[in-house]
Amino acid sequence: MAFETDPIFAIIGVSVVYAVIILLVIAVLGSLLIAYSFRTERFIFPNFMLFSITILENLVKALFRLVGADDGIVDDVGIALRNKISFKKFRNTPVDKRMIFLPQCLRAIDCPSKLSPEGMKCINCGSCEIGNARKCAEALGYRVFIVPGSSFIKRLVRKHKPTAILGVGCMTEVKAGLEMCQKLNLYGIGLVLDRAGCVSTLLNWDEFYEFIEAAG
Ligand code: SF4
Repeated sequence: MAFETDPIFAIIGVSVVYAVIILLVIAVLGSLLIAYSFRTERFIFPNFMLFSITILENLVKALFRLVGADDGIVDDVGIALRNKISFKKFRNTPVDKRMIFLPQCLRAIDCPSKLSPEGMKCINCGSCEIGNARKCAEALGYRVFIVPGSSFIKRLVRKHKPTAILGVGCMTEVKAGLEMCQKLNLYGIGLVLDRAGCVSTLLNWDEFYEFIEAAG
């Protein structure tokens, strides 16, 4: 006796196959655009790229690994792209509505600052670059916080209600921070540490100063 396929299941089966093919095509195109952007620092079809990075991150990373490429490129391009998209809005935000979050791991090991409800209270002792960076940014009108973790950031954002945020952190923190900004409708910019860790981390401070100067 021959089995008859239920038309509903046949339609579902065909739809699933088409959906998988479409997602695969989007992931492949997204991966090609990401690789191109990484090499040239030019972003073509940024919204499409952002879609592929946000929705299909794991698949896009798997494609990178499949061809022997570093899947960290996807994170690098994703952050650069989000920064580029937010930059104009960040620059157009009054500076007193912008906040900067620096991670406490950037401090010198013998930092004398004390923890307060607003983060570490830097006394600009000169042992690390934070003191100078904070002074420069505050002179421009930014509010600068040196924070021990993301829970501090969330609390300070709730309290001070900024419109735009510049956050410094490791790749994971920056990605999470930019996602938080997107959810809260804030204009987020992320700078990734050159060396992450619990202490003695490194930031390309030139990049930091260039950014706050360019953002006006
Ligand atoms: S400059 Fe500020 S953050 Fe850096 S070590 Fe001195 S007090 Fe700590």
